[in-house]
Amino acid sequence: MSNFTGSCLCGSVNYKSNSDPLVTQNCHCDDCRKACGSVYLTNVFIKEENFESSGKPNSFSHQSDAGNNMTKFFCPNCGSQVFGKNSGRPGIITIRAGSINETELIKPIRNLFLKKKVASTPLDDNLEACDGMPL
Ligand SMILES: [Zn+2]
Ligand SMILES: [Zn+2]
Repeated sequence: MSNFTGSCLCGSVNYKSNSDPLVTQNCHCDDCRKACGSVYLTNVFIKEENFESSGKPNSFSHQSDAGNNMTKFFCPNCGSQVFGKNSGRPGIITIRAGSINETELIKPIRNLFLKKKVASTPLDDNLEACDGMPL
């Protein structure tokens, strides 16, 4: 039994996670905004060892401001971004929260890169607020 599952819009890229989300956070940085096509991106972190995907996602890599190699995996058919990797966080998969089927598990704890936030985006005051990237 997997803890949660997910897919792209057309269903050709699927995955399952054998753990609950470790951390979930909203990122308001320019890279996430452009890459996901929405004004901010909610990411769910799990360990790569608990992650299994099927289908053949395409990938795109770029450098973050911090100099890390960021790789986005997306469906070649429908274009949905499904998950990503960051060379600065080896062994971690960042799942695009919108691809998760069990949406009740999506519980962000903080907002990142608020200095880049789109002015009209409402914020939940109960979440930790970070101007940039903590740590
Ligand atoms: Zn697809
Ligand atoms: Zn970001």
